[in-house]
Amino acid sequence: MDYRAFLIKYAEIGLKGKNRGRFEDALVTQMHFAIDPVGDFSIRKESGRIFAEAHGDYDYDDLVTALSGVFGISSFCPIVTVEDKSFEPIARMACEYVENSYEDKNFSFKVMVRRGDKSFPMQSMEVAAAVGERLLERFEGLRVDVHDPEVYLTIEIRDKVYIYSRELPGPGGMPVGTNGRGMLLLSGGIDSPVAGYMIAKRGVRLCAVYFHAPPYTSERARQKVIDLARIVSRSAGPIHLYIVNFTDIQMEIYQKCPHDELTIIMRRYMMKIAEHFAGLEGCQALITGESIGQVASQTMQSLFCTDDACNLPVFRPCIGLDKNEIIAVSEKIGTYETSILPYEDCCTIFVAKHPVTKPRLDVIKKSERKLADTIDGLMEKALAETEMIKIHS
Ligand code: ATP
Ligand code: MG
Repeated sequence: MDYRAFLIKYAEIGLKGKNRGRFEDALVTQMHFAIDPVGDFSIRKESGRIFAEAHGDYDYDDLVTALSGVFGISSFCPIVTVEDKSFEPIARMACEYVENSYEDKNFSFKVMVRRGDKSFPMQSMEVAAAVGERLLERFEGLRVDVHDPEVYLTIEIRDKVYIYSRELPGPGGMPVGTNGRGMLLLSGGIDSPVAGYMIAKRGVRLCAVYFHAPPYTSERARQKVIDLARIVSRSAGPIHLYIVNFTDIQMEIYQKCPHDELTIIMRRYMMKIAEHFAGLEGCQALITGESIGQVASQTMQSLFCTDDACNLPVFRPCIGLDKNEIIAVSEKIGTYETSILPYEDCCTIFVAKHPVTKPRLDVIKKSERKLADTIDGLMEKALAETEMIKIHS
């Protein structure tokens, strides 16, 4: 079947008045971002619905993939349209729709008619009954079941007539751009891309920051993070990715502070730098991929010490997930294969053999005093030399 249009459904809970308009506008923007690379589509809002219409050729599977990733879409239906708003063409198209959309024409069905245009001369029930009759005449294997049909065939009579029955799942959530901004600490691992995805799904626009340590970390490790950001941006929209050279700061911590406290002190400086760029981008929170107890730097005591380094709230959507649950999400969103590429991360290179698992904030702060003379200058240099890349999917 040549589907020329799609009906987009979204969850409407809490969407009233001004909020609804904002939600819909953001959804249209995000849909354009996702589907414009697939073909020429117009998107329009019409009394609580959104339609995407194709002008010219497009690849159906590519379009389905694109729409399945747009946050805010709860489901979407490929539809056929009838321009001529009278019964005969509607009945004919309904038959053609079933002919082309179902290989096995052996199922129970119910026709549902919605009449947005009240000037249409027949009542909804009359249209449903008459179209049902036509389908029964044409296809032997079809039977009507008004209580529990296998197929609901919907006919909407509006400015044009829309016919559809299939409903494909969207990701749910809220359109990106409706809920502020967050700065994601994006490493090359499995967890942080998942964390970014989960927060973006609630409508938060992402920025990201990556800390690398050349020459200890390679160009390939950097490229891997760019690739991950690009995959996340398929759903999250464009991302400003800040790439911070962390080598000098790490070396300084390594030389001056106790080695069992390295990771925690390093993470505190990462939070400070992330917060700086969050300020520039107007972000209201930091986002990390941490999960309680996963490693020494993610115990309750370590997380407490990390949080102390910054003022913004830190969102950790993976906090209560087991590793296998995080992996399941990463497989679903398509980041897993890239995340497991074996390039070294700055944290793994400077890591101590026996890191503290229950750091005390006063002890950590005392160790940090050893950096007093040098750290401000090193931080300033790192900030000044940071590179920003605009990521598009
Ligand atoms: P991930 O799988 O996301 O790399 P992880 O299990 O390796 O996580 P850690 O290395 O302790 O855990 O890092 C915890 C979190 O800190 C990460 O999820 C990420 O948000 C942030 N982070 C760690 N290293 C970096 C880095 N090099 N650049 C940016 N953020 C980082
Ligand atoms: Mg990591």
